[in-house]
Amino acid sequence: MVTSRRLIQPKVCRDAVHGVRHLSTTQLVRSPPHPSSASVSPAVSSSSTTSKKSPLSVLPTGVLLRSFFINAVSSRPYLLSPSLYILSKISKSKSGVILNVDRNPLLRWIMKNTFYKQFCAGESGRETRSTMDLLQNLGFRGTILTYAKETVFDFHSNSSFGQGVSNSAKEGENCPSIEAWRTGNMETVNLLQEGDQLAMKLSGAGPRVTNAFAEGKAPPQQFLDALEEICSNCNARKAQILVDAESQQFQWGIMRVTIDLMRKYNTTDKALIFNTYQAYLKSTPSTLRTHMQTALDEGFTLGVKVVRGAYMASDPRGLIHDTKENTDDAYNAIAQGFLKQQYEGFGVNGRAFPASNLFLASHNKFSLVEAYKTHMSQKRQGLPTVPVGFAQLHGMSDDVSFELLKMKASDAGLETPDIYKCSTWGTLKECMAYLMRRAAENRDAVGRTVDEYAALKAELGRRMGLSA
Ligand SMILES: Cc1cc2nc3c(=O)[nH]c(=O)nc-3n(C[C@H](O)[C@H](O)[C@H](O)COP(=O)(O)OP(=O)(O)OC[C@H]3O[C@@H](n4cnc5c(N)ncnc54)[C@H](O)[C@@H]3O)c2cc1C
Repeated sequence: MVTSRRLIQPKVCRDAVHGVRHLSTTQLVRSPPHPSSASVSPAVSSSSTTSKKSPLSVLPTGVLLRSFFINAVSSRPYLLSPSLYILSKISKSKSGVILNVDRNPLLRWIMKNTFYKQFCAGESGRETRSTMDLLQNLGFRGTILTYAKETVFDFHSNSSFGQGVSNSAKEGENCPSIEAWRTGNMETVNLLQEGDQLAMKLSGAGPRVTNAFAEGKAPPQQFLDALEEICSNCNARKAQILVDAESQQFQWGIMRVTIDLMRKYNTTDKALIFNTYQAYLKSTPSTLRTHMQTALDEGFTLGVKVVRGAYMASDPRGLIHDTKENTDDAYNAIAQGFLKQQYEGFGVNGRAFPASNLFLASHNKFSLVEAYKTHMSQKRQGLPTVPVGFAQLHGMSDDVSFELLKMKASDAGLETPDIYKCSTWGTLKECMAYLMRRAAENRDAVGRTVDEYAALKAELGRRMGLSA
């Protein structure tokens, strides 16, 4: 892990095959590993210095206190490690009372009012909608909502785990896992309003679907019919669909199905359906090349959601970039390339760039602030760019989210990107695997958590009159 805070200014980020310049003209510098709120690069902080008030000043005090508590735990390894151990025991507990959130009311109360409320939207439709309204009132365009059920394939143990892995139906019968997934997603769709988005995990439909993905076969018709129902309902509500990237075992199948949906639904300039591209995969530039060419040839709008990637612990290491810096460079190359409509040979030397919508999902302040600035700069200069949205997870990196909202406010009157929070809903029990992942992610991003803790502490101090 890199510990220095140096800013590296590569003149070019060169594609080995095509020699394409991706990043040169904005003087894009490599993401510092822990961009501290106090020590972000001058480029990053330029718009934030317009006002001395912290971007976190808009947070309600209750939310600020809860975030402060969670970050106090997350930023201290000696508190986080035992918390992770206990969370893991709770999430695996099937029998017994003490560690079972459905049977132990005290444990349930503690979990619900700390970790659950920090990261999840609600256990019922009503509770979820009220969290979504709260987020919208804070300035977010809408909520990206997901249903908690998913399956993860662990290459190390060669096994799947997660909700919906059981399959009691016989061949030819309707599959209860697919039906439960359809119902859960349709309940989620019913909570969406215009501007909200559905984040869909296809593996949640269970083993018939994941087996088909893994074997490169067409998924069951029941699943395709469910997808059709979900997409047409979202289309009617003007709510976009972000299909999550998952374990490599399933990902090629997921991408194939999603491209088919784009062919059908992405027929205007605004994409309804997005595929997720994991920048940490060495194969991603080539996957994007193929999908960009397909979109050009067939005349649909490519929906591109970019993440760094969340399956390092379970996917084969060799498929993933060797270093964090390489992943950062890959992420920034895609973001900057799309925003300037010059990526992987498209948009240069007379080669057309496909109609695309970009969605940058990340907590990395540097990548996002640079992307925001490139987008606005292209617009101001009348240069080509693509529509872009930004998202962070609910309960995480509020300093990044509110910094982006602040930049947006300082560009009032111009057409600016939309900022979203992405939340998960489901019962406390259903959300335990998701909560475990969030806690583990905080452990792996200690630097960022420490910075966020410092920002929260400063804001708390300001409200208590302890600082200017
Ligand atoms: C709204 C939203 C939606 C998301 N959806 C998905 C999704 O559909 N699928 C998915 O897989 N993930 C998803 N993620 C998670 C995402 O992939 C990252 O795991 C997470 O956001 C952390 O990366 P970061 O960009 O925020 O920044 P950072 O904290 O700067 O980067 C951390 C990431 O860098 C990469 N990395 C770390 N160490 C190394 C190393 N040694 N070598 C190579 N790479 C390394 C890993 O991807 C790690 O997660 C989503 C995240 C958000 C915010």
